[in-house]
Amino acid sequence: MCSHNHLNESCHNKILCPQCDLLVALPVLEQGTKASCPRCHTVLSAKWKYPANQPTAIAISALVMLVIAGLFPYVKMSVMGIESQISLLNIAHAMFDVNYASLGWFFILFVVAVPAFCMVAIILLCQKVNLPLWLKINLARTLFQMKTWCMVEIFLAGVLVSFVKLMAYGDITLGISFVPYCFFCLLQVRAFQCLDRYWLWQQIGEIPKLETPLQEGKSGISQGVRSCHICMAILPAERKYCPRCHAKGYVRRPNSLQNTVALLISSLILYVPANVLPVMVTNTLGSRLDSTIMSGVILLWGDGSYPVAIIIFIASIMVPSLKILAVGWLCLDAKGYGNRDPARMHFIYELVEWVGRWSMIDVFVIAVLSSLVQMGRLMSVSPAIGAILFAAVVILTMFAAMTFDPRLTWDRCNVVSQSRIRLEKGLQGG
Ligand SMILES: [Zn+2]
Ligand SMILES: [Zn+2]
Repeated sequence: MCSHNHLNESCHNKILCPQCDLLVALPVLEQGTKASCPRCHTVLSAKWKYPANQPTAIAISALVMLVIAGLFPYVKMSVMGIESQISLLNIAHAMFDVNYASLGWFFILFVVAVPAFCMVAIILLCQKVNLPLWLKINLARTLFQMKTWCMVEIFLAGVLVSFVKLMAYGDITLGISFVPYCFFCLLQVRAFQCLDRYWLWQQIGEIPKLETPLQEGKSGISQGVRSCHICMAILPAERKYCPRCHAKGYVRRPNSLQNTVALLISSLILYVPANVLPVMVTNTLGSRLDSTIMSGVILLWGDGSYPVAIIIFIASIMVPSLKILAVGWLCLDAKGYGNRDPARMHFIYELVEWVGRWSMIDVFVIAVLSSLVQMGRLMSVSPAIGAILFAAVVILTMFAAMTFDPRLTWDRCNVVSQSRIRLEKGLQGG
């Protein structure tokens, strides 16, 4: 980091927690240290040894692995002498073939395109490639917004579940692509981990200056300032557009609770048909079997695959319903009903945000099965309408958690006894 940036850091050593709106002092961090909010434990900044080169190297390796994974067969299956194999690209192709283009697009976007875009964006931004400023700003903005939609690891889990389901029917072997794909999965998660958002935005532009003196240990809203939800700059509350990243923002997301509740109700309406209608149709020697999410779980249980049955039951049935309840509870709590400990409510919020994406596992299982099991009259699997409805439920609940403003949970308590930032040493590789 150049001396110019160092100077910049010590002048603007205050940071407003984007999750709980607490103002804390950010000291000049030692190498390998991460600083997290004393109140909600969100990581605010981390100082890596090679803040630019480490994410770049990992992102490049991830892209190489993705290319290798796309070239070769991914999984092979043989049933009574008939062989079938798929590559990553086949999976989307098979969805288009059976007229489930939405699932095909879904796969291309969340498993291949979005993660690949994020890796390219990390390389371009970290290496300070000579790009126009507006492009850099837009790349960085999309990069952090797309993070939740990278579902590589969930797809991988879906593939593993499909194996277990298929083992009852034939021989399953892993193709050459499988190992590079696992590496791609690990590397893209790691690339995000080693990239410090606070640092990255400092490379793009200086933190906008603020005239008003700020007091640590108090909320931003009580001091007339807000945190930019994109670049973490502290801005005057009435300022709509951030001068650094040009993102529109508010002190509190307008109509956050109304929008969240509306999304919850929509997902609840779709939740019923998503569970009642079949998600998958299996044709074996002319006999047709429609399966719903629950009947899939029962079948796995009956086959003796208890761990997988439990995983699918938790991910597809418990998580979406508990998530709808939990987000509804968060809304009620933020509205002032009930008097819960904000730290506990915040933990629920984080859990809901993290765990919600994993419900997609069953959608990916259906995608893998219906592209791999295409053996003519002997056996074929195709998706059914329930799969799309179920994917819609998960996406809606993800949006519901996103529109919920977590700062509302903390607004009841204004003064905090402990305002010192938490420092933790020992970042791996830092
Ligand atoms: Zn916080
Ligand atoms: Zn900003």
